[in-house]
Amino acid sequence: MPSVQLSSSLQRADAEVLAIHCSDHRFQAAFYEFLNLKLDLNENYDLLVLPGGPQCLTLVEYLPKFSWAGWKWLRYQVEAHDLKRLILIQHQDCGWYKELPFHLHASSEPRLRQEEDLRRARAALAKERPDLRVEFYYAGWDASERITIDEVSG
Ligand SMILES: [Zn+2]
Repeated sequence: MPSVQLSSSLQRADAEVLAIHCSDHRFQAAFYEFLNLKLDLNENYDLLVLPGGPQCLTLVEYLPKFSWAGWKWLRYQVEAHDLKRLILIQHQDCGWYKELPFHLHASSEPRLRQEEDLRRARAALAKERPDLRVEFYYAGWDASERITIDEVSG
């Protein structure tokens, strides 16, 4: 394939944000729209995209090597780019969670399991990087299959 000229150019402004979300293809356009247009990040953020998204920050006992990698990538990006803000997004019907054993969470209800992991990530981040501003979101769809994203507090 010959080289392809794109309309995109190199982002020269410093980034302040790292976003972590799932790789599920059904949500990519929505995540992009949310980060760029609703949160006004204007394509200027670091991004980790992997199955289960921020769940990798909570796997210490079940999949310690995955947890190690998730934290390694997070620390690298935050330190290398002096990031100030972290955006973690979970989503409805996440296939990664269907693979996880139920004993890892207090509830078997998918959204409650994901919110439990966001609380675990919040606690771990408060200890590890209290300087970071951390936001949590949950993406789902409505009856017409339009994506909605809610902020998750507490
Ligand atoms: Zn997913």
